[in-house]
Amino acid sequence: MKNKILLVSISVLFIAVTLTGCGSIPFLSTPTSTPLPTNTPLPTATPTATPVPYYVTASVMSGTIQAPAILYHRFTNDTHDATSTYTRYSDFKKELQSLYDAGYSLVSMSSWLDGTFSVPEGRKPLLFTLDDGISSDQLYINSDGTPSQYSGLGILYDFSKQNPDFGYAASIYTNMGDKYYGDIFANNWFYVSEGDAWKTKLANTIVWAIENNIELYNHTYSHVDLSLTKATDISYQLQKNDATERDFLALVNRSDLDTKLGNILALPWGNWPASQEGVDAIKNYVNPEGKPLSAIMEAYNADEPKLTPSVFSSDFNKWSLPRITATVSSVEWIASHSNEIPSMQSCKLGPTDESKASDTATLQALITSAVQAATCPEGVYHVGDQIFVAQNGTVSLYKKATTVSAAPTSTPTAQ
Ligand SMILES: [Zn+2]
Repeated sequence: MKNKILLVSISVLFIAVTLTGCGSIPFLSTPTSTPLPTNTPLPTATPTATPVPYYVTASVMSGTIQAPAILYHRFTNDTHDATSTYTRYSDFKKELQSLYDAGYSLVSMSSWLDGTFSVPEGRKPLLFTLDDGISSDQLYINSDGTPSQYSGLGILYDFSKQNPDFGYAASIYTNMGDKYYGDIFANNWFYVSEGDAWKTKLANTIVWAIENNIELYNHTYSHVDLSLTKATDISYQLQKNDATERDFLALVNRSDLDTKLGNILALPWGNWPASQEGVDAIKNYVNPEGKPLSAIMEAYNADEPKLTPSVFSSDFNKWSLPRITATVSSVEWIASHSNEIPSMQSCKLGPTDESKASDTATLQALITSAVQAATCPEGVYHVGDQIFVAQNGTVSLYKKATTVSAAPTSTPTAQ
């Protein structure tokens, strides 16, 4: 019996040696050729564990931080021509794929403007904006609660579910006073029913939008040409649009969402007021919750595409943010110019003491030395919930998230 155990043991050893392929002789011969010294007592105290060097993983975006802001209007089936106002569902699906393949991921307009935007590692920021809202072909919620595949933001929703790193974010610039909302979907298109049913449908669509990262902003109440509108009428157009949006929320008892409505204006046709008084009426506009206007969106012709600077760019001007009108060819241009947009990179900071890994001053020092040692580039750093700007040899805290969030982690995941 003893012999049998010995035989099995040797066989196991032989197999282990053969499998590891190292043919390590010492493994077999150690016990006999180098006996353990008998005169050295084994240490009785447990040695202190060697501290494992701790590194903090940061996300950093470097270079000229800019992004394409695509301006969509309406969506349609293939019976309509593709124009700068109408994007066909079939074309839109192809465009989403090509933008995704080009490395883009969506960020919200609010995060773009306050500098808190982030994309997963290796990806580039992209903004979707929709003017002339809200029409059913832009966003329509089916009776089962899912967004319709006959609406642009519904198609986007499905695409983002299949490709989570593309993200789901867009902003709609509304004209609440110039149209009805198609509340019925039949025979592959939207219709407005009798009575006021469309109002409840639109109100619930607005609620869905706000709760699903679709931001609503101003495009004037009745899509007026601001170059032909008096300053007092401009103020009315902005106020009335905001008030109407809030009326819809009140209709479905969701006034709690009023505070989620921001204050940005997209100029109808990209036209500015003719007078300085009119320009001031826009820039000084404060929404019902007391938020001052935070930006003005312009509209550029699709054949002269301009990228939108970020708050970290020297040419950022919140009163004049360019957007690229969506056409089949302008979206192709955006996909093929992705090399002009920086990608999010990952960079290791440290080593440091784990207990100080979320300490602002510690992180600042770690970024400074990483940049000096050229192991990480200058740029905008996201570490946990803190954002730093490393520029011209200095590192400063840009923003510390004020919202309650999970404990800082050494491996922050981009949104
Ligand atoms: Zn418009």
